[in-house]
Amino acid sequence: MKKYMAVWGALFFCVVCLSLYLMLETLNTSPGRYSADVDAHALEQFEKKINVIQEDIINNQAIIDDIKAAIKASSKGDKQDIPKLQALLDKQNEKLQSNRDRVVSMQGGMKFNHPVESVPRVNAVQRQGGNEVVKFDQYDKYVGLRKTVPVSDDVCRWINTPSKEPDINMEKVVDSLPFDNPDGGAWKQGWTVTYPANQWHATNKLKVFVVPHSHTDPGWVKTFDSYFTQQTRHILNNMLDKLEQYPTMKFIYAEISFFHLWWNELDDGKKSRVRKLVHDGRFEIVTGGWVMNDEANAHYFAMLDQLLEGHQWLEGTLGVKPTAGWAIDPFGYTPTMAYLLRRSGFNSMLIQRVHYALKKHLAKNRQLEFMWRQSWDHEGSTDMLCHVMPFYSYDIPHTCGPEPAVCCQFDFRRLPGSSYSCPWKKEPQAITDQNVEERTKMIIDQWKKKATLYRSNSVFVPLGDDFRYDKPDEWDHQFVNYDKIFKYLKEHQELGVEAQFGTLSDYFKSIYEQFKVKPGQAPTEFPTLSGDFYTYADKDDHYWSGYFTSRPFQKNLDRVMESHLRAAEIIFSMANTIAKRQASAGNFPATLMMDKLIQARRNLGLFQHHDGITGTAKDFVVVDYGNRLLKSLKDTKEVIKECATYLSMDTKTAYSLASGENETPIFDVDEERAAHDALPVKTVITVQDKPRPILLYNSLPHQRDQVVKIYVTSLHVLVKDDKGNTVLTQAEPFWTKPDVVSEFFFKVSFRVTIPGLAVLKYTVQSVPEHGNSLNIPSTVLMFNADNKQIKQSPFSIEVTTGTDFTLENPYLKATFSGSNGLLKSVVTKEDGTTHNTKLEFVMYGTKDHSGDKSGAYLFLPDGKARPLKDSGSPIVHVIKGPIVSEVHVYFQLVTHVVRLYNSSGVDGISLDMQNVVDITSQHNMEVATKITTDVENKERVFFTDLNGFHMQKHKYHEKLHIQGNFYPMPTMAFIEDETHRFSILSSNSLGFSNTEKGVLEVMLDRRLNQDDSRGLGQGVVDSKQTPSRFKLLIERRVAGEYNPDISVAYPSLLAHQTSLQLIHPVYIIPPHSKHASDMPKLNSFIPMKTQLPCDVHLVNLRAMQNADDGKERLVPKHTSAMFLHRLGFDCGFMNKGLACDAASGQVTLSSIFNEIELNLAQQVSLTLMYHEEDVDTMTTLNLEPMEIGSYIVTLQ
Ligand SMILES: [Zn+2]
Repeated sequence: MKKYMAVWGALFFCVVCLSLYLMLETLNTSPGRYSADVDAHALEQFEKKINVIQEDIINNQAIIDDIKAAIKASSKGDKQDIPKLQALLDKQNEKLQSNRDRVVSMQGGMKFNHPVESVPRVNAVQRQGGNEVVKFDQYDKYVGLRKTVPVSDDVCRWINTPSKEPDINMEKVVDSLPFDNPDGGAWKQGWTVTYPANQWHATNKLKVFVVPHSHTDPGWVKTFDSYFTQQTRHILNNMLDKLEQYPTMKFIYAEISFFHLWWNELDDGKKSRVRKLVHDGRFEIVTGGWVMNDEANAHYFAMLDQLLEGHQWLEGTLGVKPTAGWAIDPFGYTPTMAYLLRRSGFNSMLIQRVHYALKKHLAKNRQLEFMWRQSWDHEGSTDMLCHVMPFYSYDIPHTCGPEPAVCCQFDFRRLPGSSYSCPWKKEPQAITDQNVEERTKMIIDQWKKKATLYRSNSVFVPLGDDFRYDKPDEWDHQFVNYDKIFKYLKEHQELGVEAQFGTLSDYFKSIYEQFKVKPGQAPTEFPTLSGDFYTYADKDDHYWSGYFTSRPFQKNLDRVMESHLRAAEIIFSMANTIAKRQASAGNFPATLMMDKLIQARRNLGLFQHHDGITGTAKDFVVVDYGNRLLKSLKDTKEVIKECATYLSMDTKTAYSLASGENETPIFDVDEERAAHDALPVKTVITVQDKPRPILLYNSLPHQRDQVVKIYVTSLHVLVKDDKGNTVLTQAEPFWTKPDVVSEFFFKVSFRVTIPGLAVLKYTVQSVPEHGNSLNIPSTVLMFNADNKQIKQSPFSIEVTTGTDFTLENPYLKATFSGSNGLLKSVVTKEDGTTHNTKLEFVMYGTKDHSGDKSGAYLFLPDGKARPLKDSGSPIVHVIKGPIVSEVHVYFQLVTHVVRLYNSSGVDGISLDMQNVVDITSQHNMEVATKITTDVENKERVFFTDLNGFHMQKHKYHEKLHIQGNFYPMPTMAFIEDETHRFSILSSNSLGFSNTEKGVLEVMLDRRLNQDDSRGLGQGVVDSKQTPSRFKLLIERRVAGEYNPDISVAYPSLLAHQTSLQLIHPVYIIPPHSKHASDMPKLNSFIPMKTQLPCDVHLVNLRAMQNADDGKERLVPKHTSAMFLHRLGFDCGFMNKGLACDAASGQVTLSSIFNEIELNLAQQVSLTLMYHEEDVDTMTTLNLEPMEIGSYIVTLQ
């Protein structure tokens, strides 16, 4: 009883800690959607305080964990007390929630509201000023004709050639299965497995590889650092001691983020002992990425980057090149990963979390091992041997064979007396001389049953679980007992089993040897398979489609940081090359920047973990990831800004990095975030009558014509391009509230043409009223606003109610509802077709019958989506002008903006949509945006992308429930019919489905008040004001045929370029407010001689470190890794708006740059582990469609 009192007391303590934490966490959120002004000093002080308390909280977390363990242990004694404990915990959680909500509501009165700078008041201006000069309905006067781009025949031929049908097409398998979920007996999701008694004998032995492993999540219910200090460090220490103690034992390990931390703690003696174990093949690094990355939400840039970071580190320190992929825990699998591993030189891979019905189907046909082929691959050169684990989980009860009650008895960590036990009520027994025969026969029966599901005579038996082998005695128990079984088998050849400890590649090697093929080649009879493994269900209707959207704020932050990292890598490679040529190279802070880049690579890499970007970690772990991403976002902004400054300076010797309080940098960053969970606040340029410079950086290797927007302190401005020409500008109101226009801040939009990779210098200055006839104030129409003050604004503002209105540019005419401001239809002007495009916001609740409810992983909706109710009519702004027209709609839970650009670039061809969703006040709610079109997509076929790399076909199946029909959409989705294709392009990953014929539905945010029983132990209620951004693209098919039966589809070239521009915006680098005078001479930097073809994307130009992890690692080399991706695209659509020259896939490395010499190049494997061939930089490379070419290039 005393023990229980202690537990109750501890529980209350735990709740107090958590309350404190939640309050702080709430206070730390964004200061408010409309607040543009933050007192930097006050905030810094505030942040410091929070950091101190946050540390306390992390410490408290350890206590909480201990309490939980205590509860677990004490409840084992008396199981009836578990529900009581649970009920109490639930009740306290509810209280916590209401406390938290109270704090959230209080927060409204706590905004920071001190202006950063004293801003001159703007004089009132004459309404309609300038409208006589430019009538903005005369679009063609300002927008040049868009050219279409020549496309090489070979690519269209290639795209239109059907791929060879694989033996297994996953999309067709899903089509064919009933998903009826019958009870399979001991193997619940399978069947009763049998095998002929004489199948294995002394001369035909089953080879069993028992493979010890420990799955270490770099952040989940603990932070990355806590996991390392409390568990992972011990696991690896034990590994070193115990593998030496037991010479026949082996171990595999995956996560380099942890491993490198551990390595850095070792002395030289231990390092060489580790190297010996690796070189003896006893300790094997599998995959060797920075993390075991999520495969649904992650973009291929980040997947590759974290793999590269891990491999470079491994090669530089251990001198090891992994050959086998290991992904036991990601929640579904993408063929992109098979591609990346294949092109990195791997020969085999393993996956585990596959839908139970698909596992059963593949097992029945002995197809759990196959050659995974890219659906676009015509030749089979991408084929990758893949092993699917057959049962429910990767823990020991589900890996020795089909019967968990038996397998659990062979997990010797659960021996009686330990803190673990078997839930099947049959405890493990230590192996003795008395029971060895019986126990051996028992486990080989499981191994043999497992072997019948595969085609070779080898069987793979993983022996591990999450954070296993952290205590020395687990090593002893597993080794000693298995060793007795192995020895017994050696003495009893008639049992037909040869068993041993092994590694993952020992197992694959055994298969290759049996079939007498080289590693990487297809063993005879192994089938080919194309497609993906989404959407994962582990049981019943428990589809893991919630995590495609969970924590969308962080999914957005991830993609923002990712594009900054890429932009920073590229501009750094260029700036560092130019700096090295200067006699005064020392003033360029190369090592400082390299340090920031390496940290950013690792922080981005860490977040690609399958509990990071997935949104499935504890709240405080999400905060930890968020702070890392924010730090690197700031750092990469610094690198971009400083490199752009350096490259644009006429006299390089005049450059110095501003450091210390008395030095002011020339330029500022475009926006800042006050906290990891705050929306960005734009930097406002203080304009003066003297021109001030603005730099614009295009990180894409193609010219782009597009509209950019800056924030200024005057309505009367003049913007000049780098040739000194005044450009047409549109002044727009800056809204401090939906019905209040700022008197001090304004937005100015203008069109720019920026060559590939260029940094252009523009200037902005203030002018007297009427001083610039090319600066046109927007006209504003407001619906449902009753603020009488609004008409005092310097803009012409009409307040009205009622009728539908339109926005128009030369390509589109969009009609919106006058009652709620939402899109209703779009006319594509080239063919005069009116397209239904009814946009609405919808919501799901969560299923309320007993059992699990929606949580971080699972989506278990309470039926079809219903309209999101909003009280009253929203305030709507309609803003028009010569450059951009906008609609702003202010609902209670969603702020929605649609923009139509009057631009000759690709941004003029689609509708731009931005939302900020705020469901912090809601209970068990998921919000989606739904666009209803009249597309007749036959058989409900739709496509979503996989990792931004390729498109995957799906059909909406009623048999899969709603939740089984949602798929990840990292960058885009489309539906189509004979005449048109509707694409939605997204700035970050979210869940998508075609919930009704003709419908595009994108999940925007989810707030779920309970845990969904997958180990996280909490709901997702740390909701933020969450931004999302989309482009809606309507394209008419002009060539090729619509075929609903086709397995492979490609975006158009226009869709590719629109997506790239959405994800990689033009970086605006404003002048620093304090640096008003003495500007050095600045020039535009235009580095490219020939822009890359439209269908070639520069994935990265990543500076190589001098040593991979040694003391010199921060000194960048003369070399950079260059990645060129040849995009596959559908030739059936017009390629309008593109400023690149042609889609040919042809690149001559030496003619890319004019400012930089690229004289030497080597073609290498994707993660640079293998040198393939030297490339003559003068000859033209013909990049293969869909492939990523990787080169190490010397830049001088
Ligand atoms: Zn995991």
